[in-house]
Amino acid sequence: MSPDLGAEVTRLREQVATLHGELVRYNLVAWTAGNVSARVPGADLMVIKPSGVSYDDLRPDNMIVCDLDGAVVEGDLSPSSDTAAHAYVYRAMPEVGGVVHTHSSYATAWAACGESIPCHLTAQADEFGGEIPVGPFALIGGDDIGKGIVATLSGHRSPAVLMRNHGVFTIGKDARAAVKAAVMCEDVARTAHLARTLGRPVPMAREDIDSLYDRYQNVYGQPGVSSATP
Ligand SMILES: [Zn+2]
Repeated sequence: MSPDLGAEVTRLREQVATLHGELVRYNLVAWTAGNVSARVPGADLMVIKPSGVSYDDLRPDNMIVCDLDGAVVEGDLSPSSDTAAHAYVYRAMPEVGGVVHTHSSYATAWAACGESIPCHLTAQADEFGGEIPVGPFALIGGDDIGKGIVATLSGHRSPAVLMRNHGVFTIGKDARAAVKAAVMCEDVARTAHLARTLGRPVPMAREDIDSLYDRYQNVYGQPGVSSATP
């Protein structure tokens, strides 16, 4: 590994370890479920969580470096059991720099029902540009989860997919953007659920959703600092 690549991997080990703490902080994970990965720019590599390690014990030095076929390049532990899905997304979607998976309660409840989340909120229009879609049922292990994520999110504005009977996968330009999408997806899923229990959520006009999405993705935030997802 060249010195430049080594420095980049060191930076991403720290970032990915720290971002796992955000999953805990936002109450998106139970026990050791959930994982974050980051693509190593300029190399066919990614940094991902080790399998079955407590969130309290995740550190930069026990993150795993894998190639984009999921084979371990650096690390003593096994990588996350969802590594194949992350690797498939990086191979198929070159614009993606970060992937997150959680079973966050409200979003996963929608996945259990096999229902996409319709856009009834300006915050959802901002972040997701419309509905948050449902992806197919897929068993863990091979490429089926990755294929389902890519098939659902390719050409879709949403950076989040609710994989049926399973949970949430999000993508972003980097790992932080993918974590933000996971946090916002759970927030939207919770409010959408509450709205349904209160009554019948009011539909939004397509042109209003488009206008909100465009403003948030292109104008919102501090000049020169992108806060939008992905
Ligand atoms: Zn899962």
